[in-house]
Amino acid sequence: MEQRIDRIKKQLHSKSYKLTPQREVTVRVLLEHEDDHLSAEDVYMLVKEKYPEIGLATVYRTLELLTELKVVDKINFGDGVSRYDLRQEGAAHFHHHLVCIECGSVDEIQEDLLEDVEKIVESRFNFEIKDHRLTFHGICYRCKDKSE
Ligand SMILES: [Zn+2]
Ligand SMILES: [Zn+2]
Ligand SMILES: [Zn+2]
Repeated sequence: MEQRIDRIKKQLHSKSYKLTPQREVTVRVLLEHEDDHLSAEDVYMLVKEKYPEIGLATVYRTLELLTELKVVDKINFGDGVSRYDLRQEGAAHFHHHLVCIECGSVDEIQEDLLEDVEKIVESRFNFEIKDHRLTFHGICYRCKDKSE
């Protein structure tokens, strides 16, 4: 955790930003909830527990800054809510999501798995791929177990 905060601090410094206490608390909350897909309001509620005097606008600006620096990715699962997701360190492309249409759970696939598809898209459409968002909608293994 401390090492990752240190690396994020360096990332901010390289773009002439400081890791202020408010920003650090926000980063800590994101790291502690790495597997969750928190909305700005969720992050705010958790940050407030550690840093009661912080305002929603500050948390919001920090999330926007972290998005700009590619520390987090902003995603939307079709419910109109922007969620913030930590980017895996060193990953060239964003991870994939499995969204369960029954229980609403969100699981992640960290492997890219798209190398072949990317090659086809790049050659057939003469398109240079920089990143992608892939969300699968279906029934998770937990719900499948329940119905069997
Ligand atoms: Zn994710
Ligand atoms: Zn990829
Ligand atoms: Zn489910």
